[in-house]
Amino acid sequence: MADGRRLILLGPPNSGKGTQAAILAERLGIPAISTGDMLRAARDAGSELGRKVAGIMATGELVDDDTMKEVVRERLARQDARGGYLLDGYPRTMRQVRDLEEILGNTDGIDCVLLIRVPDEELIRRALERGREDDQEEVVRQRLNVYEEKTEPLIGYYRKLGLLREVDGHRPIEEVTSQLMEALGAESQEGVAS
Ligand code: AMP
Repeated sequence: MADGRRLILLGPPNSGKGTQAAILAERLGIPAISTGDMLRAARDAGSELGRKVAGIMATGELVDDDTMKEVVRERLARQDARGGYLLDGYPRTMRQVRDLEEILGNTDGIDCVLLIRVPDEELIRRALERGREDDQEEVVRQRLNVYEEKTEPLIGYYRKLGLLREVDGHRPIEEVTSQLMEALGAESQEGVAS
């Protein structure tokens, strides 16, 4: 079965992660849970959470792990997350990995971690082309530095657990989607065989 799964989508900023998360979630019939979208909505609504995180978000730094843990805990407790979900943008630090394990109540609550790989030069090119408000070159580089320093260690961690599937993100959108679906198919067949 393609649905009912708890998936994590990993990838650097501007890897197309958000786009792929939306497509995959639709195909798999599970919600895409994007912490970036949730924080932007909070910021735009001017909620207490939004006011707390707006400054940090503007610099390209990460919101603190404790705040993120509560945001994710609440989101995963909602009804629509009971049949599985695709996490986009969480976890992003090793502390968040442990927090997620705690929220799920065990270490094997996650079924598969999909990694979209894109070369740095291409990421920066895409970011500047998009020209979003928070995409000035300095912030773009900062977001990339933060990813390399804080988030890349997750790759080795999930690889060791045998959960990681990598795809080439320097490809047209549909090809990246196909690779991701294939990675998930291969994963579920392995699950059936063992
Ligand atoms: P994103 O759209 O996923 O790149 O998220 C936009 C911004 O929200 C990030 O640059 C962070 O400041 C913040 N953010 C989103 N997800 C997380 C997370 N898991 N941990 C810390 N900060 C986050």
